[in-house]
Amino acid sequence: MMSRLTGIGLTQKRTFSRATCLASLVFAIAAYSAASPQTAASTADVILINGKVYTVNPAQPWAQAVAVKDGKIVAVGDSNDVLEFRGAATQLIDAQGHLVLPGFGDSHVHFMEGSFTLLGVKLDDVKTIPRIQKRVKDFAAAHPGDSWIEGMGWSYDAFGADALPDKKYLDEVAPDRPVFLTCFDGHTTWANSKALQLAGIDRSTPDPPNGKIVRDAQGNPTGALTEAASGLVRKVVPPPTREARLNALRAGLLEARRNGVTRIHSAGGDFEYFDLYDELRNHGELTARFYISYFLNPPGLTPEIRASLDRARATYHDDWLSAGAVKTMLDGVVESHTAAMLTPYADNPAVKGKTFWQPAQYQATVTELDHNGYQIFTHAIGDAAVRLALNSYESMAETNGTRDSRPRIEHIETITSQDVPRFGKLGVIPSMQPLHAYPDADTLDVWLKNAGVQREPLAFAWNSIANSGGRLAFGSDWPVVTISPWPGLQTALTRQTADGKPAGGFVPAQRITLPQAIAAYTMGVAYAGMREKEEGSIEKGKLADLIIVDRDLFQIDPHKIDKTKVLLTMVGGKVVYGDDAWSNDIPDNRK
Ligand SMILES: [Zn+2]
Repeated sequence: MMSRLTGIGLTQKRTFSRATCLASLVFAIAAYSAASPQTAASTADVILINGKVYTVNPAQPWAQAVAVKDGKIVAVGDSNDVLEFRGAATQLIDAQGHLVLPGFGDSHVHFMEGSFTLLGVKLDDVKTIPRIQKRVKDFAAAHPGDSWIEGMGWSYDAFGADALPDKKYLDEVAPDRPVFLTCFDGHTTWANSKALQLAGIDRSTPDPPNGKIVRDAQGNPTGALTEAASGLVRKVVPPPTREARLNALRAGLLEARRNGVTRIHSAGGDFEYFDLYDELRNHGELTARFYISYFLNPPGLTPEIRASLDRARATYHDDWLSAGAVKTMLDGVVESHTAAMLTPYADNPAVKGKTFWQPAQYQATVTELDHNGYQIFTHAIGDAAVRLALNSYESMAETNGTRDSRPRIEHIETITSQDVPRFGKLGVIPSMQPLHAYPDADTLDVWLKNAGVQREPLAFAWNSIANSGGRLAFGSDWPVVTISPWPGLQTALTRQTADGKPAGGFVPAQRITLPQAIAAYTMGVAYAGMREKEEGSIEKGKLADLIIVDRDLFQIDPHKIDKTKVLLTMVGGKVVYGDDAWSNDIPDNRK
């Protein structure tokens, strides 16, 4: 007879407190099995049975069961066949008919920054000035020891037509301590008077290159700072201690695993902290795999930067932590007219935005990096920036010869029709974030007004790019939006808000199908990170990174995908997360 094992032997194997409830569903076959055990060589460590396993492997799209040994998948098939791999010590997970998917990847994350937002003032769900003020006030009261009050997630539409915040709202609720709040997109910040004063910003301070100190009619700073101007304040915020960073990362890792994210590509802000990720790994606390890019600003490479890139690549190059990519930014964002466009913005014919790099310098830099085997991630949002990246990658390939370099363009919010097929043709990876197209007021009233209706048909053009051979890799851009992939997956299918607006969808021709969207979050991310042979699908020989979710995405109304709950997350064959609801779900029929 099989019985639930809740004894100490199993408890000791579980490091993560949120997985505690799994005690009742991970049980040992040996307790009841009289079948002849397999030899040690072929015995699985873990077997998942009774799943509706969507593998993302076209050769075997569906299965019921998966066997895992030494962190890798050794068999995928129906439950009876896979149970052949059971042995005396094999743990069994009964998926109880739930949908099982490969662990989700996220091709664009600012993990350290995102992790800190979990600890600061949370503003992503408050959309009016009074509610933002209340959050700041409450946070200040609850954290009397914090010398600075930091937060993230406010959005432009909270401020009406002028769409930028003012220091006075923060001075009203926190006059004595510096307050520094970053916009949801990371491109604009909002400081109170105290923070401006500590940063030495006044009416005589010049704008830095690629940034703007927003001023009122009298020339006084309003508290809004765009792009590089935010750095003037950021540099006077006391840096967090090592322990504070580790704690933030622990919170970030929990956020990732509870949402089913097992592979992360860092797009900036993490390279300097490789050793912290390594420390967490050495303590068994790393529950997602990290490919971490170096963030390179113009004017580009120096011998010191080259040395630190080479050193990181020589040190970190395994399944859990790897270097080898360089991220740079060609432009800003549409909302603040800093994305570089081929023709002027619809709402301001005097402005086209400009690239942060001189084109020749950018091209020479990516060519040199590619020549040295580094993968390039280029942030490009305006159609001019996208074209410059494509042109530069094309010429880079001509100079360096054909190699498997898979250069990437991040975001691609606007594009011209003649550039769409170049992703497939040149082998450039489109790394895109479905939630950036979420058609709320920020997208429809600010983004679309700026970009203009002539750019609308190819706004966030997932379907056009995929149809012409581009291999989509999806991600979040956390902390710009949630790291949870489920609202993004829903948006990829609907291009509507959670409550179904606009009725027909925002540019419905750019919707993609559920299999396409799942692939973009799994195999697409693996491919974009050069790891499609090791990850991205539930397939024999690959890493055992998989998740169980609470609903069958293939059967439900797509508008319910965003509420998906992850029941279990497995990374490298280890259960790192299990939701409470899951254990309550177990039928009592195994006696
Ligand atoms: Zn980003």
